[in-house]
Amino acid sequence: MKARMIRIAAAVAAALALSPAIAQEKVLNLYSARHYQTDEALYSNFTRQTGIKINRIEGKEDELVERIRNEGANSPADVFITVDASRLAQADAMGLFAPIKSAVLEERIPAHLRDPENGWFAFSTRARVIIYNKLKLKSSDVANYEDLAKPSLKGKLCSRSGAHPYNVSLGAALIQHWGEAKTEEWARGVVANFARAPKGGDTDQIKAVAVGECDVAVSNTYYLVRLLRSTKSEDRAMMEKVGVVWPNQSSFGTHINISGGGMLKTAPNKEAAVKFLEYLASDEAQAYFANGNNEWPVVKSAVVSNPELKSLGNFKADTLNV
Ligand code: FE
Repeated sequence: MKARMIRIAAAVAAALALSPAIAQEKVLNLYSARHYQTDEALYSNFTRQTGIKINRIEGKEDELVERIRNEGANSPADVFITVDASRLAQADAMGLFAPIKSAVLEERIPAHLRDPENGWFAFSTRARVIIYNKLKLKSSDVANYEDLAKPSLKGKLCSRSGAHPYNVSLGAALIQHWGEAKTEEWARGVVANFARAPKGGDTDQIKAVAVGECDVAVSNTYYLVRLLRSTKSEDRAMMEKVGVVWPNQSSFGTHINISGGGMLKTAPNKEAAVKFLEYLASDEAQAYFANGNNEWPVVKSAVVSNPELKSLGNFKADTLNV
């Protein structure tokens, strides 16, 4: 009996090894600049649903773009996903994306959250909010982005590098609303208010505000929610010291940005690429963005079961086309 089972197992193994389905395994080569651990579930769920294996190459945003350009026509990359509209626009301007004609993507993703030529699509949004130390300031002190440049905040502001795309995109939005001259004046005011030279990421600014190293900073919302949901009590205690403001509610609304991606012109697995992008717009995948990485879905029907994300409440978002 045992010998027979071993023979059968060996035969099955041999058949699998020779099977054309396995030899030409369906794959998707994904170049991703999303740096969130919770994305694992998002990808493994796609493989479970479609049988398409994802080969993922993770890297820094600009490095991945450079890599795709260097690989040229031989690039194995099918899909490139990244964070921040400025980077998607940049990759698009280099001609890296192939337009996709997909009724699913056009129907599910709002027009202001995708490239008009269908080169790239947003799959989640995040807001860039003002955070402040509740013992030092009132929310009304920092109700608007304008306030960050007020002389009364001299020596009280922490920031990550102004060259970081999150801040570049915020600056670009402000230029749209205020014009170049006013935005430049504002930026000078912001720099004059620094408590320290820019360093670290958004989470470092939140920590600095919580410990009183500075009184005010800006941060993307998912970093705040990550700390609110943290299993470490010191992270949650930190968030009790920090107030969150939706800036510019009585004017153009709070700046939002996106994470998104598109199919590459040189994609060897175009069918899988379209399938994957359509999957990212499914209710199920959209829920991963919200429940896993604390971003807002772009598809309204997606179910968000993330109490900490919901605890941030509703706000007026800037509707400027990303
Ligand atoms: Fe980030």
